[in-house]
Amino acid sequence: MTELPSDYHRNLPYGERMSAEPFIGDPMFPFEGDLQVDPLAEPVIPEPPRRGEEGGEPCGTCAAPDRFVIWRDDQWQLKAFDEHGLPFVAILEPREHYRLDTLPPELIATLGVLIQRVAGAIGRLDAVGRTHFNRWGDGSEHFHLWFLARPVGQMQLRGAMIALWDDMLPNVPSEQHNEYARVVAAALCEGGGEAVLSAAE
Ligand SMILES: [Zn+2]
Repeated sequence: MTELPSDYHRNLPYGERMSAEPFIGDPMFPFEGDLQVDPLAEPVIPEPPRRGEEGGEPCGTCAAPDRFVIWRDDQWQLKAFDEHGLPFVAILEPREHYRLDTLPPELIATLGVLIQRVAGAIGRLDAVGRTHFNRWGDGSEHFHLWFLARPVGQMQLRGAMIALWDDMLPNVPSEQHNEYARVVAAALCEGGGEAVLSAAE
């Protein structure tokens, strides 16, 4: 076994299966029946490089800066993805390549404002009850925030499992997606920046 990096790791039961029992029957857990959790894997130290990190694959955003973009200003851009089951799934990211810890002060200063604007713009869609935003960053080094729109009234989709529902629900038809992208981009433009509608066609 790899040398374990912390006391936290030394307390974990590697190779054992945790129980899914605490979740079974919870109204926000989307599975039922007999579930078996994967055995807990050993840590990988050092961690493999992410996209955009030295030794990793090239940064997808920097390689194709316009792909999926529906709105941008001088600092930020919003991408919307057309194959998804939730009403709207988007990524907010700086146009230049930064990590969270290297974002310059002028970008940090506008990030909070943009989160509010993007959530508000997605909330304009008649299908949307609430817009969640998350930063994971395990795949790509280029800083990005995910925005996941929960369909209004679909209380079963509350909470973190919404990311799984996005993959399980049927994809939004492309015409519907394009219309939603136009609405969100236009709403964002009310606060500045420009719509990049060709990317959403
Ligand atoms: Zn990048």
